[in-house]
Amino acid sequence: MSNNENDKQVKVLVLGSGPAGLSAALYAARAELAPVVLTGMQLGGQAALTHLIENYPGFPEGVGGPQLGELFQKQAEHFGAKVEFDMAHEVDLSQRPYKVTTDSGEYSAETLIITTGANPVHLNIPGEEKLTGRGVSYCATCDGWFFKDKKVAVVGGGDSAFEEALFITRYASSVTLIHRRDEFRAGAILQKRAKDHPKMNFILNTVVTEIVGDDKLTKLKLKNVNTNEESAFETDGLFIFIGHTPNTQMFAGKLEMSDLGYVIVNDKMETSVPGVYAAGEVADPHFRQVITSAGMGAAAAIQATRYLEGEENVPEGGAVHS
Ligand code: NAP
Repeated sequence: MSNNENDKQVKVLVLGSGPAGLSAALYAARAELAPVVLTGMQLGGQAALTHLIENYPGFPEGVGGPQLGELFQKQAEHFGAKVEFDMAHEVDLSQRPYKVTTDSGEYSAETLIITTGANPVHLNIPGEEKLTGRGVSYCATCDGWFFKDKKVAVVGGGDSAFEEALFITRYASSVTLIHRRDEFRAGAILQKRAKDHPKMNFILNTVVTEIVGDDKLTKLKLKNVNTNEESAFETDGLFIFIGHTPNTQMFAGKLEMSDLGYVIVNDKMETSVPGVYAAGEVADPHFRQVITSAGMGAAAAIQATRYLEGEENVPEGGAVHS
């Protein structure tokens, strides 16, 4: 089908290796489609950066994010999926087989399952970029350890901010959660745990306006949004958890997307291009759970399988976009 003999030709190419990608791979592998998964930057996706996942069924005591990712991978590989440490840069969806250019070369894929996930939103304030990795972080599991017995601030009022702030209390001497309102989006259980925690403090109705430091973060400039009063807050670390943006830049103008940049899928995980599916956080601004992403990935693979089977049964043409 390909006109370039150096292409790696696959029936199902999965972009991304989080819960959605590896679940899609498991289902496509069990359908004997020998899927290839391109891991992207982070094997296991964002879930692998989560210290403990307590709401994935089957693990009553919780399971480590990296451990769950490894189990997903093992299970997919057991049935014949191939997981490649490779990164896609460009896609050509103008004709099938779809072309995907990666670090290692080019793939020709009869179907594509996009599970490229989402990335943390930045505050976009002075000092943030310069001090990232020097006190500013977006990943508690990755960097929490560096703040042993140090003072840490966290920005955000959702589940992520609370969950990660609580995680950082293992290391830090104190964790101050700074939120722009006086109400939180985080669930009641997390809120209670945080409010009851002796190391946790709260600064409400307040935004961070600048992150200050030369080689490393030393203090934050804060502003109370009600009174406009400005203040300084000395801290060794700042963790920012204010939401995510989907990794869809590669598909701009090629797939239908929402105003927020999420790939639009129907209830069968079909995108606007036949044979191209999307699953997990790249297509889900609402739930962002391991279980929902895994479910979407499975659905995408089932639908890709039906699509390919339908084509095999149609001798002419190929308008089998069921
Ligand atoms: P989120 O629920 O969208 O919360 C983002 C928080 O950041 C909000 O409190 C928001 O403030 C604040 N924020 C946004 N932009 C800001 C800015 N520029 N400056 C200061 N604050 C800003 O995001 P999330 O916590 O990442 O969670 C996303 C989804 O994943 C949710 O559906 C959540 O339930 C789910 N999730 C679930 C779990 C779990 O079940 N254990 C764990 C993590 C995430 P406002 O409140 O004022 O808008």
